[in-house]
Amino acid sequence: MQRFSFNRTQTASNKTPRKINRNLIFNLIRTKQPISRADLSRVSGLQRSTISLIVEALIAEGWIVEGAVGHLPRGRRPTFLEINSRRAIIALDIHPAQTTIAVTDLAGRIITQQVVLVPDGATKALNTIVNAIRKLLAAHEDLAFDGIGISLPGRADLNLQKLIFAPNLNWPVLSLKSKMERATGLRVKMDNVANACALSEVWFGASDGLHDLVVVNVSEGIGTGIFANGQLLRGENGLAGEFGHVQIDADGPACACGSRGCWEVLASNRAAIGYYNALVPNSTGITFDTLIKLSQKGDKHAITALTRMAENLGRGIRIIAVALAPKEIVVVGDITTVWHSFGAIIDSQMKKNAFTKSPILRPAYDGATARLRSAVALVLGEDAMSGDHQA
Ligand SMILES: [Zn+2]
Repeated sequence: MQRFSFNRTQTASNKTPRKINRNLIFNLIRTKQPISRADLSRVSGLQRSTISLIVEALIAEGWIVEGAVGHLPRGRRPTFLEINSRRAIIALDIHPAQTTIAVTDLAGRIITQQVVLVPDGATKALNTIVNAIRKLLAAHEDLAFDGIGISLPGRADLNLQKLIFAPNLNWPVLSLKSKMERATGLRVKMDNVANACALSEVWFGASDGLHDLVVVNVSEGIGTGIFANGQLLRGENGLAGEFGHVQIDADGPACACGSRGCWEVLASNRAAIGYYNALVPNSTGITFDTLIKLSQKGDKHAITALTRMAENLGRGIRIIAVALAPKEIVVVGDITTVWHSFGAIIDSQMKKNAFTKSPILRPAYDGATARLRSAVALVLGEDAMSGDHQA
């Protein structure tokens, strides 16, 4: 079975077995609900008495509830356990021009979501987002909110609480955190979107939380989240993972970071739009979404543009594979919606001239909502399940 290990170093040092088992049981209920205590014992290998103690505590703290009564051919009728659907999280996926805001449950299922167009100007941008969240909270008064998770298109120094590397974002996102905390009274957790997606793959995805994986987040730019040795690799000042700004072509187009020919100017959504614009005069203003739809209709220029993007994605992913040798590389982003057409191109580029076994390359398990769910994973970080935090 899969054992959840969000942070293996903590497991070894300062986490009590009780907390480890709490996480394990909570995640089993989250992924297998509805589930009986007997099945929890069977699947986890923990004793019935241990299961009972943990389950009673989780019920008392409002994480889970007892739901339907099951039917067995004979004997006792088990009560099934479920995640408490009255508790919720606000998830934000921030992009330079738009932000998606969602209400989700503790299992990361999206209850409602909306896209907010972010106006120019820092004050207007912040007010627009905060007002949208206020309205969502008011519309869901029946839910108890645990916090707000924010996936950022940049690197945040979590100690200094400032955004230090976000060449594509031109408004001060970190003042959003304090402003949002004041406006809602909820705790706000934020992290780089690729880091958050790596945690999400561990928390919600098929990963067992034990093997090394790298998430490649492809949107306006490219960022990576590295989960190695059981935890996120953050690097000095939280800047690890900026493979998007590794130079691939010294004569390539200028990048927002000040360099030229960075991986992200050759392989991001914006790169594909650029390739299409070069092939089709008067196509400026086309969105990446439209480009994908055109390719699905067989538009040869759209296919050429996306093929070029995919080849360049694979070239960069090969660098990651060689440098870090993760077991898995997971791609997050709109390109995953046409993975059946372009995934093989990325894969073959990654494997080109490979001198060792290549990692498994796959799209995120839920392409369209991976970034939103990653914001949920931030709120559901280990401290949320430690038993110290009360709703
Ligand atoms: Zn760059």
